[in-house]
Amino acid sequence: MLSVEEALERLLEGLSPMSSERVPLADALGRVPASRPVAAHDVPPFANSAMDGFALRVADGGAPRRVIGESRAGGPPSPVVEPGTAVRIMTGAPMPVGADSVVPIEDASESDGSLAVQGSPRPHAHVRDAGHDVAAGTAVALPAGPITASVIGLLAAMGEAAVEVRRRPRVAILSTGDELGAVGVPLGPGQIHDANGPALAAAVSEAGGEPIAVERARDDVADVEHRIREGAEAADLLIVSGGVSVGEHDHVRAVIERLGALDFWRIAVQPGKPLAFGHVEGRPVIGLPGNPVSALVTFELFVRPMLRRMLGLGGDGRAHVTARIDEEVAKDPARRAYLRVRVCADGAGYRAVSAGGQASSQLLPLAFANALLVVPDGVAATVPGDSYEAIVTGAVE
Ligand code: AMP
Ligand code: MG
Repeated sequence: MLSVEEALERLLEGLSPMSSERVPLADALGRVPASRPVAAHDVPPFANSAMDGFALRVADGGAPRRVIGESRAGGPPSPVVEPGTAVRIMTGAPMPVGADSVVPIEDASESDGSLAVQGSPRPHAHVRDAGHDVAAGTAVALPAGPITASVIGLLAAMGEAAVEVRRRPRVAILSTGDELGAVGVPLGPGQIHDANGPALAAAVSEAGGEPIAVERARDDVADVEHRIREGAEAADLLIVSGGVSVGEHDHVRAVIERLGALDFWRIAVQPGKPLAFGHVEGRPVIGLPGNPVSALVTFELFVRPMLRRMLGLGGDGRAHVTARIDEEVAKDPARRAYLRVRVCADGAGYRAVSAGGQASSQLLPLAFANALLVVPDGVAATVPGDSYEAIVTGAVE
């Protein structure tokens, strides 16, 4: 059996980052930046006041000033501040020529056009210089991860209407199995709803890819072959779920082998032992186990890092913490387990509680889990009071 690390290394081997495209800011949320935008102008473009108050000259010290006009945000140019004068100024308004400090309104009193200030103004107080956020000409290194609201704000302030981002990997998703029925259609005898198709599509979107649905394949060699070919042609990566094991009606491995090249691995992981990986039409194809929990956990461990590599990102993009568990949860001693748990902050550390049944067919506990607790091979259960690595996949309270 391969270790998770060995399998991951092989999966990532041939992958390289996607090309880039320009998208308008309105479509940039969650995308991955692919270049460093160069500031066409200073941000802010001109020196301005950080407070409502009075712009004046430090050299006049504590003496009273004559108020000669005002500077407001977006207003007409204000008069030049000569010795002995001041200009009323609003937050964000340009610093008048001649002024080198701002006294906040709270520290000044104005009557009959004369301004008295408390103490002596400090040089440059409450003045925001041109370019104090971003200087003109700077190639701005954006955070590598997905673009956030703050990054969009920064780009907008720089005057960038669009941003260069990695193309989203197109990921075809193929569910296989004679027992599968569409969601929204009543089930026939022996049928179950296709949970993996919608779940994997969502996981692909969450990881930054673009899911493409492929019509479900029946457990029939010709149908599986037809859909695998179709998926591989339509996408940068194809995910197949179900039909990868050794059952009489599991055709995925044989079909990938015939259409292209196949590696079949048994991985020392619970859930999710069998994994098929190959290439069809030159495109990577990964076959995940059919049990929904196995499909989603192996997606998390293997496919998510693949998509991140294709987006030019590293790792899995998850927080890894250490969490204490106070219960005994059984597992297969021969494999490393990824238990579905709820992690919460507990004093200086984290505590994990089993999210429910740990069978690979139980989606309900997975839906409530916010972390996978990594319990090594060689042990048959968690030891109450011991701490383990937890991969945080959801919000932690
Ligand atoms: P398989 O890997 O095809 O042997 O399937 C293993 C188990 O997962 C079986 O109980 C299948 O019914 C179930 N299964 C396979 N595909 C799906 C799917 N798309 N949605 C829900 N359950 C599935
Ligand atoms: Mg099946």
